[in-house]
Amino acid sequence: MEKIKMTTPLVEMDGDEMTRILWKMIKDELLCPYIDLKTEYYDLGLEHRNETDDQVTIESAEATKKYGVAVKCATITPNAARMTEYNLKEMWKSPNGTIRAALDGTVFRAPIVVKGIEPCVRNWEKPITLARHAYGDVYKNTEIKVPGAGKAELVFTAEDGTTIRETIHEFKGSGILQGIHNTDESITSFAKACFNYALDTKQDLWFATKDTISKKYDHNFKDIFQEIYDAEYKEQFEKAGIEYFYTLIDDAVARVMKAKGGFIWACKNYDGDVMSDMVSSAFGSLAMMTSVLVSPSGVYEYEAAHGTVQRHYYKHLKGEETSTNSVATIFAWTGALRKRGELDHNQELMTFADRLEQATIRTIESGKMTKDLALITSMQNVTVLNSEDFIKAVRETLDRI
Ligand code: NAP
Ligand code: MG
Repeated sequence: MEKIKMTTPLVEMDGDEMTRILWKMIKDELLCPYIDLKTEYYDLGLEHRNETDDQVTIESAEATKKYGVAVKCATITPNAARMTEYNLKEMWKSPNGTIRAALDGTVFRAPIVVKGIEPCVRNWEKPITLARHAYGDVYKNTEIKVPGAGKAELVFTAEDGTTIRETIHEFKGSGILQGIHNTDESITSFAKACFNYALDTKQDLWFATKDTISKKYDHNFKDIFQEIYDAEYKEQFEKAGIEYFYTLIDDAVARVMKAKGGFIWACKNYDGDVMSDMVSSAFGSLAMMTSVLVSPSGVYEYEAAHGTVQRHYYKHLKGEETSTNSVATIFAWTGALRKRGELDHNQELMTFADRLEQATIRTIESGKMTKDLALITSMQNVTVLNSEDFIKAVRETLDRI
């Protein structure tokens, strides 16, 4: 069989620990035998980030802007323990943070739905994709622990010196204060990324805030979304047969629990932080969750939502067998390959991505899976495979379908 040709390279960001091991297995078994794989390779493994003073991360983000599509392996975000473990020059920042800042992107997280791994919420038949606005609000706050009685004010001083002043509270005793902000620019980027991704995946978009209580702050989010929708997206949404829908956050939460799924739920920063953990754990497993960073200009970076699975890696280093789930990493690749195919009008590449996803799902549905899934499946008599044998089983399915 002739290998599928690619015209434009994908940006490939290699990573750390167990996921780095899976990365190579996936390429060797599931990609390179079928595709004449063209990638621009960036080694984001912690050692190489340290050697390059983290320049490699910045370069990989620049390459992503240039080519439009990237696939990323999970990477270590250094902490004190990693400083000694890797003898680091500096506590390098999270690569995901650096890449997200460079692309001004929004992260969309979606579960991979498989028969036999049922969501806790019975009526969720299709995935719910969560989009979290990853800038500002309580994550960039300023706080004061108020020592005693006094007046708290909110003051804005314009460049020309004029001020806007509001009383927050007249304290009679001690208490607490918090100042938060967001920018129209960031909210606009978030809104555009959400509308683009909804069109791209042909799913309805829900957005919710607490604008009835927060009449200026949250209302501003609602207004920006609505203005952009009306001006730039309404027609395209109607043509695609999808809907944009705004509601209050508490109403959204209630509706999500009753819904069938199959939509994108856009959340402000804090709501997204909280709700993405709820949605992903209710869908079953972090190892079955994909993540894609979408920039407002339509640049895409695909990855698994989980980390480098450190505990499994140490077992692997000791020569012990591991049963690490590679599904989300496989889907990061298929997402990127499909998008590459779409942009390059490469139908073969898109079809291959679909087939590889089908093969992965069917392998699990036939009862062959890694240990993490075996522990939560409703299927009887499953076969638990190790990391490598699961990937080989997917290959067998791929060759059959
Ligand atoms: P983790 O890698 O997500 O793993 C936490 C635990 O979840 C594992 O020990 C394992 O449980 C289970 N798990 C996660 N993915 C799995 C998979 N594919 N197959 C089977 N089980 C899986 O999180 P962590 O151990 O807290 O973090 C390790 C490193 O990853 C850290 O250095 C962190 O900075 C980094 N990280 C990177 C990203 C990213 O690049 N996007 C995201 C998160 C964390 P059991 O041990 O019980 O089997
Ligand atoms: Mg969280």
